[in-house]
Amino acid sequence: MRVLMVAPPGAGKGTQGALIATHFGIPHIATGDLLRDHVARRTKLGLAVQRHLDSGTLVPDQLVLDMVRRAIEAAAATSGGYVLDGVPRNMAQARALYQVGLELSMTANVALHLKAADDELIRRLLARAALEGRSDDTEEVIRRRLAIYHEVTHPIVAWYGARGILVTVDAMRPAEQVGREILAALEVMRAFVDHVPEQVRTPVDLTGLGAAFGEP
Ligand code: ADP
Repeated sequence: MRVLMVAPPGAGKGTQGALIATHFGIPHIATGDLLRDHVARRTKLGLAVQRHLDSGTLVPDQLVLDMVRRAIEAAAATSGGYVLDGVPRNMAQARALYQVGLELSMTANVALHLKAADDELIRRLLARAALEGRSDDTEEVIRRRLAIYHEVTHPIVAWYGARGILVTVDAMRPAEQVGREILAALEVMRAFVDHVPEQVRTPVDLTGLGAAFGEP
């Protein structure tokens, strides 16, 4: 199973990414965590990216892509699967990642979109700020990260829709419920991701499912 997640800050990429990784026994490749680790260890990469992380702007594509390529190479040599969290974040990264995937025979077979409204995301991130103290969880920086998401990240969702690998989940509900729905959808897809050519897949939209079953 090779899953990439596209979601705004606060939608639960970290939580759901960890759940998917444990469930399928695949590595959770979280670019934000990897970058923060570089900053903490004061590596050359860490020193180069710190101001981007603090201000909530995107790190230059090539720095992230080199780091992600190494992680995907490692994944190819072990489980052959992955869950990508935090990349791609713009169209250039989506294209480059696809090329890396082709080269390594590691293209994603599911693009998981976690959908949530801005006011809920801001509320969650401010609540987390009080607990974790991440340098980019101030209201000003949160608003900038959301604006960047809407401007350059969200448009790539349609690209995965056209490729037929998109699964959209309503991430406004409690994490356990969202997680159950994600695992159920991925379990269904697991049976055929390796057998069905990418071209014939159709987008899956689960956002209306809760309402259809009478959930608020
Ligand atoms: P969030 O999604 O909540 O903003 P992340 O931990 O995914 O949190 O990312 C934190 C920061 O790391 C981003 O604001 C950005 O500066 C940097 N970053 C992470 N992934 C990428 C990426 N693919 N391209 C550029 N910058 C990135």
